[in-house]
Amino acid sequence: MSTPLHCDVAVIGAGTAGLAAERAARRNGASTVLIDPHFSGTTCANFGCMPSKLLLAAARQAERVRRSDLFGIRVEGMTIDDVAVMRRVREERDRFAALTRKQIDKLDPATRLTGRARFAAPTTLELDDGRRIEARAIVIATGSAPALPPPFEALGDRVLTNESLFELKQLPKRLAVVGAGSLGLEFAQALARLGVQVTLLSKETTLAKVRCPRVHDALLAVLKRDMEVHLGVDVAPSDAMKACACAGAARTQQMAACRWTTLWLHWAARPAQPGRRGAGQGTTGARQARRALPRPRDDALR
Ligand SMILES: Cc1cc2nc3c(=O)[nH]c(=O)nc-3n(C[C@H](O)[C@H](O)[C@H](O)COP(=O)(O)OP(=O)(O)OC[C@H]3O[C@@H](n4cnc5c(N)ncnc54)[C@H](O)[C@@H]3O)c2cc1C
Repeated sequence: MSTPLHCDVAVIGAGTAGLAAERAARRNGASTVLIDPHFSGTTCANFGCMPSKLLLAAARQAERVRRSDLFGIRVEGMTIDDVAVMRRVREERDRFAALTRKQIDKLDPATRLTGRARFAAPTTLELDDGRRIEARAIVIATGSAPALPPPFEALGDRVLTNESLFELKQLPKRLAVVGAGSLGLEFAQALARLGVQVTLLSKETTLAKVRCPRVHDALLAVLKRDMEVHLGVDVAPSDAMKACACAGAARTQQMAACRWTTLWLHWAARPAQPGRRGAGQGTTGARQARRALPRPRDDALR
């Protein structure tokens, strides 16, 4: 077994959180290591905030043109070149992601350890190539990844997630967005305004956990201008038909609607699935709060 590397702070994951944690520790005089299997940029730049806002920006532009009549400006025959829209999203996304990678490249190579880390003991990490790191403090910043519930796996590449959507060369004609959290809503609205026929389906009866009924009604009304919305429906794909059956209020309608759509699913808000990215946190000895989230200490920053 090789001699373990010693440091004050080891950070697992070179995403937005991990980069910030490593930088903060280093600036406060700690010796650090940052561990990631790819160092390919952050979720935010590659598959998250940045490309999704680029898509929303294109959608907002289309909507402005559509509504310019309000100002007495008539735009005849507007068309949306979805190939060009998606190309621009990717080009700009790649530019932003390159900036994130530049930040990573500036790190001292001795600080950057390529590999997947797992806990061997509460203060010891082991990388997949067998290297060991002993650290006084370990930051888990492993982010999250879209997790497809098993029944949906049968749909194969008809299911899009935030990791595949931005790679589409063309937009589909019809699309079902399953889940009406903040990410589901932003994708549903952006795509609808870019000309995709969107059906938004959610098991929840509330959009994006909005608590104020008046705000909720206003949000629902805005969404309904652009798409079909079905709340309180249980969405389950049918293996045999590679289609989608929705139990509950909208069953009949949705059976028809989903059959011809590409499904878009997102469960990004869930913590990364152990096994896929898990770092063996179970061996840390750290207390875990409900839903397996780490419990913040009362005297620490949250
Ligand atoms: C479509 C979409 C839109 C979003 N929009 C917004 C927004 O507008 N505003 C906002 O604030 N947030 C937004 N988010 C959320 C935001 O992108 C994430 O919260 C943020 O990127 C998470 O950063 P992170 O550093 O925790 O994880 P990540 O950036 O995912 O980094 C985790 C890193 O850990 C590494 N890793 C995983 N397991 C291991 C292991 N065992 N060993 C070593 N390394 C490991 C991974 O390779 C990865 O590089 C959005 C997300 C999505 C999907």
